[in-house]
Amino acid sequence: MSQIITDGEKTVYPILFEVRYGQMKSINCFLYKNGNTLTLLDAGIDMPAFHEFFFGKLAEYGFRINDIDQIILTHHHGDHTGMVNHILAVKHVPVYAHPLAIERLHLTENYQLQKRDFFKKLYENYGCSHLAEKRLAKLAKTMKNSERLRIKTDIIPLLDGDIIDDFKIIAAPGHSPDSILLHDTKTKWLFAGDLVLYTGTTSALVDHDEEGRLLPTVMQYKQSLENCLHYNASMVFAGHQQPFSNLQEITQRNLERVSFQLQRIINKIADGHETALSIAYAIYGERTEKEFSIIMSEIIGYTCYAEEKGLVRKEMDEDGWHFFVNERYK
Ligand SMILES: [Zn+2]
Repeated sequence: MSQIITDGEKTVYPILFEVRYGQMKSINCFLYKNGNTLTLLDAGIDMPAFHEFFFGKLAEYGFRINDIDQIILTHHHGDHTGMVNHILAVKHVPVYAHPLAIERLHLTENYQLQKRDFFKKLYENYGCSHLAEKRLAKLAKTMKNSERLRIKTDIIPLLDGDIIDDFKIIAAPGHSPDSILLHDTKTKWLFAGDLVLYTGTTSALVDHDEEGRLLPTVMQYKQSLENCLHYNASMVFAGHQQPFSNLQEITQRNLERVSFQLQRIINKIADGHETALSIAYAIYGERTEKEFSIIMSEIIGYTCYAEEKGLVRKEMDEDGWHFFVNERYK
């Protein structure tokens, strides 16, 4: 499923880098040729094996770095931005992303301090600071290396509704606050970032707004998925796993997963698992410690979502929030 796809003047050259860890299956980016313009959509991960693969694919498709005219990023995560600085070192090209991606890509001091304080406080509130050391150390490491890691050019903002090339930009927050979809209005190709994946294992990662407040990520994610049900897509190119043509069916599957995860957490709370950690251990056992940040993202995100829906309420105790199922949902 990683073959070249052509429609008139346009061609998509997929770069699907297989990975064995987690559920991602592959880290994807795409070369998109429209007439004489070559766009790189997302930019992979910054690690030697990916470099080699990326340059190999570029050569196989008959391109060189110098042929790339612009880069568009679907969101700021590190497995979508890895080659940007390497390309910029060879050729200066415009880089586009959602406005909320800008300080995240530039790793501004202000943003990083806010992020660190946000996660410190968050894990305290959810009674899991003792497991958060690794996660916080990782943030500190990024901060220390931010000069090297930051994207070294101005980012041109792409807003919901903007048109670039034949792409219509669709804001799709949830997986991250800065997620966008690119919908080619002529070919109906949809570049979906990490919103909707073929096997439905994407997630809404905990994040904060510009004031440092917890975002309603699961609610945003569900809304963005529901919007997907209305798009006319002939082919969907996602950030991981294989491209697919049945957007509605795959989106429905992703939405079912949201309902399943919500119900699972409510059931655990109803069983007397009051704290975020107790819920996490009840579902994931020891994996909770190994995959701390992704699992806590899920528990925090879904307990918030359940609270927003009036299904649960929470009370602060000395070991953080305790959750209770509201009477009428028991
Ligand atoms: Zn991502």
